[in-house]
Formats: sequence, structure tokens, C-alpha cells
Amino acid sequence: MAEKSEGELLKEKLFYVRKNTTEVMNDSDIDKAFDFCEGYKEFLNLSKTEREAVDTAVDLLSQNGYSELVPGTRYLPGDKVYFNNRGKAIVFATIGQKPIEYGVKIAASHIDSPRLDLKPNPLYEDSDMALFKTHYYGGIKKYQWTTIALAMHGVVAKKDGSIIKVSIGESADDPVFCITDLLPHLAQEQSKRTLADGIRGEELNILIGSRAFKDDKVSEKVKLNILNLLFEKYGFTEEDFLSADLTFVPAEKARDLGFDRSMIGSYGHDDRVCAYTSMMAAIDADSPEFTTVTVLSDREEIGSYGNTGLDSDYLKNFIADLCEPYNIDVRKVLSNSKCLSADVNCALDPSFSDVGERRNASLLGYGVVVTKYTGARGKSGTSEASAEFMSEIRDILDNAGVIWQLGELGKVDIGGGGTVALYIASMDIDVVDVGVPVLSMHAPFEVVSKTDVYMTYRAFYEFLK
Ligand code: MN
Ligand code: MN
Repeated sequence: MAEKSEGELLKEKLFYVRKNTTEVMNDSDIDKAFDFCEGYKEFLNLSKTEREAVDTAVDLLSQNGYSELVPGTRYLPGDKVYFNNRGKAIVFATIGQKPIEYGVKIAASHIDSPRLDLKPNPLYEDSDMALFKTHYYGGIKKYQWTTIALAMHGVVAKKDGSIIKVSIGESADDPVFCITDLLPHLAQEQSKRTLADGIRGEELNILIGSRAFKDDKVSEKVKLNILNLLFEKYGFTEEDFLSADLTFVPAEKARDLGFDRSMIGSYGHDDRVCAYTSMMAAIDADSPEFTTVTVLSDREEIGSYGNTGLDSDYLKNFIADLCEPYNIDVRKVLSNSKCLSADVNCALDPSFSDVGERRNASLLGYGVVVTKYTGARGKSGTSEASAEFMSEIRDILDNAGVIWQLGELGKVDIGGGGTVALYIASMDIDVVDVGVPVLSMHAPFEVVSKTDVYMTYRAFYEFLK
């Protein structure tokens, strides 16, 4: 091989160059990444809502030696505990070798995703068809949710306190549901609407039936037939919709994407990809130096409001429960703690590359993304990681050979967004956003790269271990 020139050597030493995972990783590591993603796809298919993600997490944690936290217990190094917050969020800990006053290491992701919730009084009949009225949850482009197969998930809470779990549309022999759209032949007026207005909120009505109940003495026969079916199968009436969390999500399963199977297409990568990778990392880091605290939160997509979102005190209370038997002030623990806010970033889309700034946008396949700040306009609404904390994270990832990259959420002034990071920062904790680059974020079918998913798992592992 020809000797490198002075300029080449200098460039190697001085330039920052991002690397494509599939170019740098050896084949056996790529195989490992692909294998890891088999478990991830299973998690996705079992966990289409935050409630289902909590159920799946409880199963996984129980299989790996975690038990429910009992307040007042003096937990010892290696002990594993979890707290299930109302079945919609979960936080769990592995007790570290170092006493808790040295702080904890937190990975905080979210398990809610954009979707269509039912309105409290959703069912109606029109033109001999039965439909559901919906109210969308999180940021969606509404036109993407028409003419795709939808599944219904959720719970109905009856007045007697009993809970009916519902999941229809996931098995191959289940029926599915859909939102209809206008045929192009008659869409001249609709086509003049702006894209944002192409399908309006009140047009997101889900078609659920068309067969009439045979009785000439009644009206709304299709609606009656639907209610009769629901009553026979689940034992609830129209009034019970008033106390239900029912939601419609894409019925499609997670699939390998591309001839080379290098990617996964699925609903809900944002943010189950970080929930899964951080959970597996925390389980695998089974005798950590510092106590690890992993939280799979709810309500992030609507701003983390509510008692299962990270704007509530449940994470702090969980850590306080670990401290209390040792008479340790939780404030001291929090200010010594560090957190990876585990959330996705937007990968540069080759068809829409003008919204990203190439030098600072995350790239699909270039590894886990560390995002110094999110926010909008002049960094509004972001906690921003300090130079000092960024350097700690760089050191951890580089030492372990984790392939990682930087990322920003689009060009300056083009839009923006946020994560749970600011709620963690408000507890006086050092925090930075770390996660997987995603294409088509918030769409019914989002895309991630398998090697990025694996590098994200490795990043969480190296941070937590
Ligand atoms: Mn997210
Ligand atoms: Mn999101």
C-alpha cells in the first residue's frame, strides 16, 4: 500500500468524519445486529399501545429476576425492582455496587405513539354504515391514516370496576377497520385543500360495519347490530364507551425492509425502539457500578402531561423510595445522577433533504444519534446538554467502539420538537438525548436501520453497565 501523504495523515487526525455502520462493522457484528432486531420486532408486534408495552415489559422483567418494588425495603447491590404506574408507564432499577448517594444512571424513553383515540361517545350510523368518531393523539399527518388497515386496542372499564381488554385486528383471521377516502374522480375540490387540511380531524371516521339487525320495528339497525356483537363478545354497552381507553393503530406487523433486509418498517418505532434497546441494555447490565433506573414513560407525544407522563413526579418518587430506607435525601441523589433521554431523531430523507442541514442532520445507518439540543427557533423548549456532559458521553461511546453520530432536528427555523429531556433536567439531572434515526417519523409505517438499533442498544449498555 502506498504511504499516506502528510495531508492525508493530517486530515485523519484533525477531521471529524461520520461512518456508515455497515461499512465499518464486520459481518459477524452485522449478523448480531440483525439477530437483536428479531427480538425487537417481536416486542413491536406485542406492544402497539403503552398499556401493551407495559404488559410486555413486566413479562420480560419478571423473567429476568425483577419484582415489584416494596417501599421501605433496603435493597442491596444486584437487586432488581420495578414500579408499574397505572399500567401505562413503568420504571425499574438494578441496584448498583456504589451506594445510591453517588447518583443513579437513568435511561428514559416513551412507549406511547401517535394514533387515533375514540371519542367518549364514538358510535354512529350514517347511510346504513356504522362508524366511530376519533380524536387523534400526538402529531400526525392526517391523510396518512386513511385507506390503511387499522386494529382496535385498549380497555373498557365497567362501572363495577372490571376491566375488559380489547385487541381486534392483529390475528390473520381477525377483521380490520379503515378510514375511507374520496376517489380521485370526485376529489377535484378536496385536491385544492392544503396537505395539512387534505383530511380533516372530523373526517377521521372509522368504518366498522354495514350489516343490519333484522327487525323492521327499529331504526339504526347497523349500529344496533354492532352493539349487539360487542355485547355478545365483550359484555359492554354504548354507555361503557364513556369509561374506555380505546385506540386505533395500524394493523400491519413489523417487517424487514429492503432487498438486503437492513431496515425495519413498522408502526411505533418512535419510541419503542429506544424503550426496547434501553430495557434490554438495563437487563443485560446486571451488576452495574451505579444503580440504573430505566423508565418507559407515557404521554410524551402530547407533551408528557398527566400522571403517567414524565411531567409527573412518579420517577422522582421511585428514586425516593430506593433512598428512604437509608435516610438519604433524594435531592442529593438526583443532583448526582445522569440520564440518557432515549428518543428517536429524524434521519435525513433523500427525497426531502432540504429540511435538514447535511452537516448536522442524522443519517440512516450511521449509528446511534446523540442530540445535544432539540427545541425550535432559538433553541426554545430544550434543556441542551452541556459541553462537559457531551464529553463524558463521547468518551464512553468511543472507548467501547460504539458507532455514533450527531443530530439536529431539521434546519434552523424550519420546525422543531422536544423530548422528555427537559423534565429530567428540571429534576437537576444531567441529561442528553440519545436514540435511533427514523424515516417517516409519526407515520403509520416508520423506518429504522437495524445496525442503528443495535448501536443504540450498545450505547445504553455502555452507559448503564
Ligand atoms: Mn419520541
Ligand atoms: Mn414522537
